[in-house]
Amino acid sequence: MVPFIIFGTRGVTFKKESGQFHCPNCGGGSDYVHKNVRRFFTLYFIPVIPLDSLGEYVECHACQGTYHVDILEYDPAASGVQVEALFMVAMKQVMIAMLLADGVIDDDEVKELKATFEDLAGVSVTEQDLREEIAAIQNEGSGAIEMVQHLAAGLNDKGKEMVITAAYQIAAADGHVDPSEQQLLEEIAVALELSQAHFLGIMSELQTTGISN
Ligand SMILES: [Zn+2]
Repeated sequence: MVPFIIFGTRGVTFKKESGQFHCPNCGGGSDYVHKNVRRFFTLYFIPVIPLDSLGEYVECHACQGTYHVDILEYDPAASGVQVEALFMVAMKQVMIAMLLADGVIDDDEVKELKATFEDLAGVSVTEQDLREEIAAIQNEGSGAIEMVQHLAAGLNDKGKEMVITAAYQIAAADGHVDPSEQQLLEEIAVALELSQAHFLGIMSELQTTGISN
């Protein structure tokens, strides 16, 4: 009998350094941890050989928000730009890509998107900003899975849970999650490198809480 060898790759997160920074979400000084995500070759699910770097991010200890490392240079007094946590960017992009799956986003869907985002992120966004982002994503032509693969290395577990929650809310906005939407949610979870158990836990919590809108 030929021995059955299970191998693959997955991202492993390492702590690089820590310190104090200005968290845009908390609106003041917070402790942060700078983390690096490296791809590993795995044998029987155990990471054995380090491969390339997948990305890095800065995580706020207080709110668990993650940011691009440029945030360490961010001066709220000098910059008029509002910086969003990476999970907010990811939630918005994944919801847009899901709504674009049928080709167009109508006015009702833009309102749905705005309400869902504001509800989950706790910050407001203008319809104009959303329409600009929709146009950019439409131009790029990336689907939800590609979006998630691109963003996953900047997200911690909390961020990944937020992305699944946002994707679920958009799928359930019409009152039900059909089998193809369920399938897409599962694929998003795989692209985020969430374990099956973690994904099912988030889903069961969402289903018990019910559809909020
Ligand atoms: Zn924070």
